[in-house]
Amino acid sequence: MVAQPAAIARTGSARPLLAVRGVTLGWRHERRDVVAAQNLSFDLEPGERLSLLGPSGCGKSTLLKAIAGFVPPAAGSIELDGIAITGPGPDRMPVFQEFDQLLPWRTVRGNVAWPLRASGRVKSRDEARARADDVLARVGLQDFADSFPHTLSGGMKQRVAIARALALQPELLLMDEPFAALDALTRRRLQEELLDLCEDLRLTLIFVTHAIDEAIVVGTR
Ligand code: ADP
Ligand code: MG
Repeated sequence: MVAQPAAIARTGSARPLLAVRGVTLGWRHERRDVVAAQNLSFDLEPGERLSLLGPSGCGKSTLLKAIAGFVPPAAGSIELDGIAITGPGPDRMPVFQEFDQLLPWRTVRGNVAWPLRASGRVKSRDEARARADDVLARVGLQDFADSFPHTLSGGMKQRVAIARALALQPELLLMDEPFAALDALTRRRLQEELLDLCEDLRLTLIFVTHAIDEAIVVGTR
């Protein structure tokens, strides 16, 4: 657990960064109720890295999508900084498992810079470019800024997806099995790189995985 004073300094109160309260997630599917998660409650403090571990189908992705704002809770509430989440936003950036998260017709730099302007986080093209280059250097892709996604390996594509999320400087990074499709060695390397980024940038992370070893390596909780 990260000490409470960080939250107090940031918000002027002891309020957590994320508050999940009695959340139930589900759908009506072919005249049946499908419940993906039931009565979940937890807090997340700034700088924490929460590993969400569980078998396939237990509702991990659905919870992450609810926090991202894609899935409204059937019951309960999710608040970021004391404000109810009502839809997606650049303050909560997801990184998914799939390698096809990138726009194939844009360069690596373009993939990172474009959302900065589209979201209104950065106004000028030059500033977006500069921030993209800065964050690409952080993930070791400075020499590939002009490359197109199809020329990259899976691990490199995931680095671009991480860079794109980090460039937006989200309050919360949401990762859904981001390394699950990588070979064991690349996965190990990316886990270590992610931990370095978390330490350097003091990221707050929810990391979904079905691998126990990965949950332990990545998470503080
Ligand atoms: P996990 O990520 O832990 O593998 P999911 O959150 O993807 O699990 O799925 C949890 C449950 O919710 C599963 O039973 C799945 O079939 C169901 N589910 C997920 N998305 C939908 C949807 N859009 N409509 C109906 N059921 C869904
Ligand atoms: Mg899933």
